[in-house]
Amino acid sequence: MERSVWQRVPVREVPPEERRYDFREVNLGYTYEDAIVEASRCIFCRRPFCVEACPFHQDVVGYLERIKEGDFVGAMQVILRDNPLPAVCGRVCPHPCETVCPRGRKGDPIAIAWLKRAAADYAPDVQFPEPAPPTGFRVAIVGAGPAGLTAAWYLRLQGHSVTVYDAMDEPGGMLHFGIPTFRLPREAWHQDLERLKALDIEWRMGVKLGEHVTLEELQQQYDAVLIAIGALKQRWMNIPGEDLEGVWHVIDFVKAVNLGNAPDLKGKKVAVIGGGFSAIDAVRMAIRLGADAFILYRRDRAQMPAAQEEVKHAEEEGVTIHFLVNPTRFIGENGRLVAIEVQRQQLGEPDESGRPRPVPIPGSEFIMPADVVVEAISQEVDLSVLPEPLRGRRVIAVNSENLQTSIPGVFAAGDAVTGPWDVPNAIASGRKAAQAIHAWLMERKRVTV
Ligand SMILES: Cc1cc2nc3c(=O)[nH]c(=O)nc-3n(C[C@H](O)[C@H](O)[C@H](O)COP(=O)(O)OP(=O)(O)OC[C@H]3O[C@@H](n4cnc5c(N)ncnc54)[C@H](O)[C@@H]3O)c2cc1C
Repeated sequence: MERSVWQRVPVREVPPEERRYDFREVNLGYTYEDAIVEASRCIFCRRPFCVEACPFHQDVVGYLERIKEGDFVGAMQVILRDNPLPAVCGRVCPHPCETVCPRGRKGDPIAIAWLKRAAADYAPDVQFPEPAPPTGFRVAIVGAGPAGLTAAWYLRLQGHSVTVYDAMDEPGGMLHFGIPTFRLPREAWHQDLERLKALDIEWRMGVKLGEHVTLEELQQQYDAVLIAIGALKQRWMNIPGEDLEGVWHVIDFVKAVNLGNAPDLKGKKVAVIGGGFSAIDAVRMAIRLGADAFILYRRDRAQMPAAQEEVKHAEEEGVTIHFLVNPTRFIGENGRLVAIEVQRQQLGEPDESGRPRPVPIPGSEFIMPADVVVEAISQEVDLSVLPEPLRGRRVIAVNSENLQTSIPGVFAAGDAVTGPWDVPNAIASGRKAAQAIHAWLMERKRVTV
């Protein structure tokens, strides 16, 4: 049967019954031909809402036009003008661009993210343009997640010399130790990393700010410093029983699984608390490790922050989601978790996030058996590694116009400034900070010449 232009070309996926047992990538991407057919559904709006909706204003129209012509190299060249992480974004971006696509009013929006991935799949060797001649300025970037890497890319292309520091042994931040390989395989992310490595950036891995090096030392050695340390500090629910064996925070859990130290979950009952990206990833990891895993979420399906597609994938793989429930205490025996006391909730007035507030129903508590629990409610910024003037309320304090802190020449970007958010916003923030650093350095040159 012929597909109408309102229908999206489906993407190939590993079937749930096969994929729930391993960490292979689930989404297999478009074939070359399917990508061209899907790009040809675009009506190439004169005022492209997709570009406006993208946090860093990716030129979507430009790359879809080229894919439509079968020019995947041209598409990659367009993408790489705005975005140093196309293979990553084509897989994990929550694609706000698709929500506003006019095709979506009557049918399926264009698969903008999958088409970015197709460009990365079929033109992986396209490189960035040559950097500008050396400026003589040296910039230190602390944190090699998407925000820090984006800033490194932009500043390097302007001709500055860039050194990236990270506490971990490998760059990537959440791309390395957070997002699971069944959504972002190492080879895909390394495709973007290799392109960045070709830019002659200096990498100082295994160096932690506040432990191995201080901000003052960096200020002495560099002309400007960018802090992009993410929001990796664990935020707990603060309920009784969190000290029991078997209770994890999501960052520790995903790190352990991604870095090859997964706990033995075979046959165990695993409860994951939360409704965002990290909760869905943790529960799908637990399923793959042989657990009977389920989600406890205090609001309803419509309020889940995770992408609907990820929720669908989790349910196909056998995850049960319990809505409108919230844990009130963890119950142990001999120091080990055995059950969770859970209270039913109902939806009330909207809270500061705009979503209906979960309101506990008194007397509705019940007990659910569990061997392991993973709290995935939130994270915060570790401000303890920074000097006092940089410590804002929960995040690094910056001037929102240029992301400069109150210390001249010290800037901050990414989750460390916004609180936990997402990859496209980290990219946008990294680029904004880099543009401000570039302007600041150029200003100094003008004054000192
Ligand atoms: C499990 C999980 C799944 C996610 N899935 C998605 C998704 O599908 N799509 C999406 O858009 N977003 C997703 N996110 C969110 C996204 O990963 C983050 O918003 C993004 O990585 C933030 O980028 P960043 O560069 O600000 O920080 P990070 O990626 O957190 O990187 C910060 C870096 O700073 C380093 N660092 C920290 N402290 C120090 C220090 N003192 N000294 C030196 N280095 C330091 C860390 O080692 C790390 O490498 C997910 C998050 C999690 C936890």
